[in-house]
Amino acid sequence: MPRPPPALTRRAAAARLLGLAGWCLCAAGPRGARAAELTIDGAVVQVEFDAHAFPENGAPLLEWLRRSADIVAHYYGRFPVARLKVRVMAADGDGVRGGKTWANPDAFIRVTVGQRTSRAQLQSDWVLVHEMTHLALPDTGEQHAWLSEGLATYVEGVARVQAGNRSEADVWAEEVRSMPRGLPQEGDRGLDQTHTWGRTYWGGAMFCLLADVDIRRRTDNRYGLQDALRAVLRASGGLAADWPIERVLRTGDAAVGTTALADLYARMGDAPMKPDLMSLWHELGVEPDGESVRLNDAAPLAAVRHAIMRAR
Ligand SMILES: [Zn+2]
Repeated sequence: MPRPPPALTRRAAAARLLGLAGWCLCAAGPRGARAAELTIDGAVVQVEFDAHAFPENGAPLLEWLRRSADIVAHYYGRFPVARLKVRVMAADGDGVRGGKTWANPDAFIRVTVGQRTSRAQLQSDWVLVHEMTHLALPDTGEQHAWLSEGLATYVEGVARVQAGNRSEADVWAEEVRSMPRGLPQEGDRGLDQTHTWGRTYWGGAMFCLLADVDIRRRTDNRYGLQDALRAVLRASGGLAADWPIERVLRTGDAAVGTTALADLYARMGDAPMKPDLMSLWHELGVEPDGESVRLNDAAPLAAVRHAIMRAR
């Protein structure tokens, strides 16, 4: 992975120019470049952006950064790294365009944002939560990109529901609509050998959902994937660590007293395992209804569904 480029600006006198507690908006370099610093549960997030490129000198961007970091910190019980640098690149138009995350060993996220992006668009953004989620998992290598991308895809929805940033029905509706893209197609050789977009993002997310439900089934709903992931983060320190996938799964399993992750990997890693998603939705009480879903609390696994989405 490439090293992030050097800092845009050097920090000078701290000032709370934005009127937001905990912010420090620091000295500008040329062309309005600014560095702001915020703290999330003791973690320090440095943000670099061109304040002149965004409305209100970038105040909505900084709110978005804090909100996204809080969502991820609540899911994992802490922010995944002690220090993070985020560089926000300005683009024409609106919307959050995409991001990329490094940790070698310093955690760094680069994200591109349209200059006319509204507060509402930032409020409903998934990209930054996805990128920050990458910080919590050790690097297991390109062959297992499905685990990293699948986790970020799955955790983004759950973590945002837990934080009140997205509705539960919206997340299930997206999974009902998109998870079939993660099913094996003709010629599939399992998640480790089939590096298509669908298998990487939604096949990986499907692994996470199946693992979450299985851990909860095996533990009478006492533990879930979230507990396993928190343990992996505590033991590894996250993305800066290089771990074999087996160690990640073993560490997660040990934390919840099961072999659910290793067992599922044995079935999905090098074979085209095809779960019956319609039956799974039905058991969880997720009933497809046009573009949306109805949630049925009388379903056999409704308590599991509630536990997945409940804030800790
Ligand atoms: Zn990703």
